[in-house]
Amino acid sequence: MKVWLQENKWEDVQTYLESKKTIIVPFGSVEQHAHHLPMGTDAFVSQEVAEEVAKRTNTLIAPPTWVGWAPHHMAFPGTVTLRPETLTALVEDICESLIYHGFERIIIINGHREANLPPIKIAMTRLRNKTGAFLAIADPYYLNDQKGRELRQSEPGGIGHAEELESSHMYFLYPELCDSSKATKNIPTKHRFLQHDPYIEGDRILSASDVETYREVTKNIGIMGDSTTASKETGEAYHKAIVENLVEFIEYCEENIQVSLRNQTIPL
Ligand SMILES: [Zn+2]
Repeated sequence: MKVWLQENKWEDVQTYLESKKTIIVPFGSVEQHAHHLPMGTDAFVSQEVAEEVAKRTNTLIAPPTWVGWAPHHMAFPGTVTLRPETLTALVEDICESLIYHGFERIIIINGHREANLPPIKIAMTRLRNKTGAFLAIADPYYLNDQKGRELRQSEPGGIGHAEELESSHMYFLYPELCDSSKATKNIPTKHRFLQHDPYIEGDRILSASDVETYREVTKNIGIMGDSTTASKETGEAYHKAIVENLVEFIEYCEENIQVSLRNQTIPL
């Protein structure tokens, strides 16, 4: 059996469902990632993590969603954004289709870190209440918090967008699509409540950005943080930790999370 759902025949899925009810659903984003990373970074990351975890745990992966909610990145050409309602609807429809066929545990991998989370969480909560299925989101910001803290070498403020960890991850996964000679650094001076670096301890207030502000705070490059400290070695260690954590979680879910499905309907 192939790990990607779309590469199998329907009988293969029927056989799979006789013994296994878990499926991985990857979401990403196609958005600017400064001068040195490809725009598909977030989608590439979620799909690569999904594929490795799937092979290690013999789990199927649903067709990937390449685009997400990225209005602030529209500041730079090429970015594609969905309306948040569209992303919520997409998550609901994909997962509801899978649940209709009997998948009980759905592990979403969000490569767009943080930004995609509000629309996905809304969908996940609705699906849980409606169908009883178990749904979870694995997002590198949260899933790899400890490894990220341990590996980072940049100064506080160095983690944000197209920075050290994200760049390292891509140098490891897709070196041919990256240009490390164009890596840059942008540590914005911000009030302590408005820090973007998730590894800075402290109290926070969240604010929204628009394209003009985003272009300005990312120095018209699209970077937030430091990518000059990135390396392939850091990326390899970071990737390995994400995969290990997710393998552990899927194994835990299969042994411990029992589900009884209800309202298995076709999204209409
Ligand atoms: Zn990204």
